[in-house]
Amino acid sequence: MSEKRVVKSACRMCHGVCQVLVHLDGDRVIKVTGDPDSLTSKGYLCPKGAASPELLYHPDRLKYPLRRAGQRGENKWQRISWDEALDEMAARLTMIKKDSGSEYFGMMQGTGRPYTGFTTRFANAFGTPNFTGVAHLCYFPRWIASLGTLGQLPVADVYGFGNRGPECIVIWGCNITHTGASDGMCGGRVERALRQAKKIIVIDPRRIGPADRADHWLQLRPGTDGALALAMLHVVIAEELYDHEFVEKYTNGFEKLRVHVRPFTPEWAAPITRLKADDIRAAARTYAGARPACIQWGNALDMSMSNYQTARAILILSGICGNIDAPGGDALWVAPEGIKQRSIFRNLEVAGLQFLPPEKAGRRLDGGRFPLCPAVHPPTFWRSIVSGDPYRLRAFWVVGSNPLTTMTNTADVEAGLKLLEYTVVSEIFMTPTAQLADLVLPAASWLEQDEVVNIHKIWCVLARKKVAQIGETMDDREIIIQLARRLGLTEAFPWKNYREYLEWVLEDASLTFEEFCERGMLAGEQRYYKYKTQGFETPSGKLEIYNGMMAILGRDPLPVYREPPLTPVSAPELAKEYPLILTTGAKIRAFFHSEGRQIESLRKANPDPLVEVHPQTASSLGIRDGDWVFIETPHGKVKMRAKLTGIVAPDVVSAQHAWWFPEQAPPDYGYQQSNVNLLFGPMAYDPDTGSESLRSALCRVYPEGESKP
Ligand code: SF4
Repeated sequence: MSEKRVVKSACRMCHGVCQVLVHLDGDRVIKVTGDPDSLTSKGYLCPKGAASPELLYHPDRLKYPLRRAGQRGENKWQRISWDEALDEMAARLTMIKKDSGSEYFGMMQGTGRPYTGFTTRFANAFGTPNFTGVAHLCYFPRWIASLGTLGQLPVADVYGFGNRGPECIVIWGCNITHTGASDGMCGGRVERALRQAKKIIVIDPRRIGPADRADHWLQLRPGTDGALALAMLHVVIAEELYDHEFVEKYTNGFEKLRVHVRPFTPEWAAPITRLKADDIRAAARTYAGARPACIQWGNALDMSMSNYQTARAILILSGICGNIDAPGGDALWVAPEGIKQRSIFRNLEVAGLQFLPPEKAGRRLDGGRFPLCPAVHPPTFWRSIVSGDPYRLRAFWVVGSNPLTTMTNTADVEAGLKLLEYTVVSEIFMTPTAQLADLVLPAASWLEQDEVVNIHKIWCVLARKKVAQIGETMDDREIIIQLARRLGLTEAFPWKNYREYLEWVLEDASLTFEEFCERGMLAGEQRYYKYKTQGFETPSGKLEIYNGMMAILGRDPLPVYREPPLTPVSAPELAKEYPLILTTGAKIRAFFHSEGRQIESLRKANPDPLVEVHPQTASSLGIRDGDWVFIETPHGKVKMRAKLTGIVAPDVVSAQHAWWFPEQAPPDYGYQQSNVNLLFGPMAYDPDTGSESLRSALCRVYPEGESKP
């Protein structure tokens, strides 16, 4: 009889890293449940987490390294060994480095992953500045704004470690209680805190769950969060609602801000945001009057024309209202002692920029056109491959990403992938992107990984223990270490293998990995109001309302709002042809970006790509609930099923992102049918970060059977 056992672990089906119990029957994972004893997630589990065993044992998993055996896209592959795969990669990269230069090799990864520091470190150590990804419009803008303003990313303190929870919770552009998690925060914990909070403010163009019980639901026009934040600052300052002691002792630049926000009255913001001035005023008063208050913000703020600036405005709002590092406010967490912080969000050295030769830094394909874009600006990256300007990459390694579905300017992405001389994709399943590769490497899923989880969960590290092995899948970090060793990059990667690396991460805590797994979690000793004794980790030691670094760069040192490029306000002529506001990127409960479409239980919950349309609008367009409709912009059209719902305003449609159909034929898997990124082409980008305004564009929608000129 096989032995039944339970292993404590941390889910990685999304960024939430909820602590879970993995139930095994012998060597087989039979289910995953929430861990009721978890301090971080208190037993929470969403459908994605519950579906982990389905992913683990899915028959379509990539199990062995595959070398292309036919033409690109012919779906002909030859199984090879890991030694053959890594030797081949090392030989090709060495040859390209010798013949053309290390910058002719590029890398990318998708959303943040446990291996984030490893990928960037590998690129830098190899000598290429040409790393790209999606960070410019996801999480990074809020993180870098936090660093520049107060030295650390604050976290909504819904945990009650300071013996009090938030009196007021602001949910700003983040549907966390529905999707399950956001940036390491657990939706279950936020939901508990919401039940206890006296005041709730929801800022979202969609009537998300918490809006039903909110004191204020501000249904702003998509993409105008920055204007609202400035108006709230105006109210708090004009009505003297701020924390005077905090402002006087712990900030700089407040008087400049007072003058700066004077014109940004609620009456100024009302026509921009389409909110009533009185509602803005009332929400600002509630926020300033209910302390402690925390702000649970989300990715909606990142995909805009002023993401860094908006994040700064919100951080300043929190600061001057006395909520930074207050128990129940926006806490600055103390990291656990003795753990070598391998998250680039804690330790910039991890990214390995110190290994990039200075002469190579200047060879970045985007020429550094956006000073706060953390990697090569993706649309510029793909265009450079297509045009060969300033030069064309020769080799490319995609780690955990499906850019054909997750990046804008999709035609350039596809053309670029076809033009590259040598492409490697590390993946869990075959994807449209992997179909265009020369070599496909089978990556381990989270149940196949040992891990000291220290990315996204800002305030603690969690243990994850490998419980399964499917085929010859390998942890991405093991792949990188083994390739780095073949290339002689041992200064950046001194470990013989990934296990040795894990032991190294823990050595100062005097723990072996096995001992760490027994504990399950290490947290720092949380202390609040640390700035009172040690200041903020900024050049001035204060919360920097006036950002000197931005002034030096010739950028706005005080927060500003910029209208997105494709709205009824900025493009009124276009709006005559494309009268609806398209917002996309709202997270889906069943899926994590482009993942999960082949997982049966998840697909059942969300079988088709959906676009939310207001019933009134649908009626005027002859659209019924469940009809297939086209969504069209000047850049393309895609097909989705209409979901008629009053959660969006009549002139707003909200379309799901990153769709493809693993059940359809390779090599495309139908990725052009419903992929919302086909609707976005070149546009005016956020001048600071290069972000695309994916939360607010213009479109028209019509029934599938109808054709438009
Ligand atoms: S929210 Fe994310 S981490 Fe938590 S159970 Fe769901 S998928 Fe796993």
